Amino acid sequence: REKGDSWPIGRAGRWWLARSLACLDRRLRDLGSRLIVRKGATLTVLRALIAETRAEAVCGNLRYEPDVGARDGEIERTLSADGCQAAAFNASLLFEPGTVLSRVGRPLTVFTPFYKQCAAQDEPAPPEAAPARMPRPRAWPKSLPFDVVEGSGRKRETHDFSQFWTPGERGAAAAMERFLERGLIDYPTQRDRPDLVGTSRLSPHLHWGEIGPRQLWHAVRDAADAMGKRALAGCDAYLRQLVWREFAHHLLCHFPRTDDEPLRAEFEKFPWRINRKALAAWREGRTGYPLVDAGMRELARTGWMHNRVRMVVASFLVKDLRIPWQEGARWFWDNLVDADLANNTLGWQWVAGCGADAAPFFRIFNPARQGERFDPQGDYIRRFVPELAEVPDRWIHAPFKAGPALLADTASKGTRAYPAPVVDHEVARRRALDAFASMRRKGRS
Ligand code: FAD
Repeated sequence: REKGDSWPIGRAGRWWLARSLACLDRRLRDLGSRLIVRKGATLTVLRALIAETRAEAVCGNLRYEPDVGARDGEIERTLSADGCQAAAFNASLLFEPGTVLSRVGRPLTVFTPFYKQCAAQDEPAPPEAAPARMPRPRAWPKSLPFDVVEGSGRKRETHDFSQFWTPGERGAAAAMERFLERGLIDYPTQRDRPDLVGTSRLSPHLHWGEIGPRQLWHAVRDAADAMGKRALAGCDAYLRQLVWREFAHHLLCHFPRTDDEPLRAEFEKFPWRINRKALAAWREGRTGYPLVDAGMRELARTGWMHNRVRMVVASFLVKDLRIPWQEGARWFWDNLVDADLANNTLGWQWVAGCGADAAPFFRIFNPARQGERFDPQGDYIRRFVPELAEVPDRWIHAPFKAGPALLADTASKGTRAYPAPVVDHEVARRRALDAFASMRRKGRS
């Protein structure tokens, strides 16, 4: 964690990063180089390394998150003033923020015009090939072990997501190949189904820079060309999602305080409630709403959650429980292996109705109905909520409707019974709408 960084890497992210760094080191060694990991303030560490290696130039990738971007800009200026050549490049986005604007040069806060503006730009350039060899210093500077990022002693993380993920460039390439071969064609029809592997699951690889969006853009285009007409819809739908990612990053650059503040200022007056007990039930996946609980437990177990379910659990926190979206965003930040400040901010503000091109507040997901639509047989729920494994299909999305006996029956040796709902969705929905109306009244007065 660096001074001034209000979003230090979360627990799940640190698990990923340690492994990703080890993979990067192996890759660099294949090219005759290696990775050096050091702890401390970035500028101090870089200056020490420059002195040790007599480096004449420092290159890096541009980062666009407000705190980190400001820090890196400062470092670039200071190193240049020291007499060292410093240069940073865009590797993480398709288009540089500031280049996709309205006709009058303003940031675009609605997705469709943003998407159209992106389509009107030159196609993102294909990525450069990696070099065959890399120069090495006369002597190798000292490095810390890569798992230092996971913390040490009692602070060390005990997560293990290795059953679900392969961090690193090779893992990213394999995930992309799998998706292109088996997922692209059905992407438009299956991407909303958490019970199926209908999406690419590339978000952590993209976040950690193990694959770039330009690389993915061209690979998807080439695969779709090779597959012909049947892959066209999948290609369009997928590239559109990459542009959502772009939208999120450009927005955060233009509105740097939205990581913690609503883009639509009227939401400052929303009557949120802090209910610690309900927040704990949400975090633990014990709200009594199976799709919400399956999502929260998928997050805890795998470090990831399906997009449809992210929307449902977020809506439940913000609208059914009326807990501030920032609480949810922080929890996701700490627990997602793909925790990404821009995407997370956009996602939470979108659901809460206070962000760019957001879902209107009055659209409140009914968790049971969402389950019926997107997890029709309840397979996803049964995978992550074992107490409900034996519950008949009829009750799987709303077991509380079957009465207390069924809930009591879900207890087994070592597991508690599945809980009754923490709130009645219909009552909560009406209260949320009342709260929204009161916010609007306050805004007018
Ligand atoms: P695919 O469907 O295969 O999409 C391909 C890529 O497009 C993704 O990897 C991702 O980089 C991008 N993408 C897809 N959907 C979105 C979207 N809605 N917004 C922005 N980019 C998108 N995504 C993160 O990467 N990190 C986060 O911290 C994050 N937090 C979120 C919080 C909430 C409340 C919500 C509703 C969404 C959040 N998302 C976040 C967006 C989305 O859920 C994930 O990107 C997606 O689930 C990743 O799975 P995938 O790679 O299989 O996606």
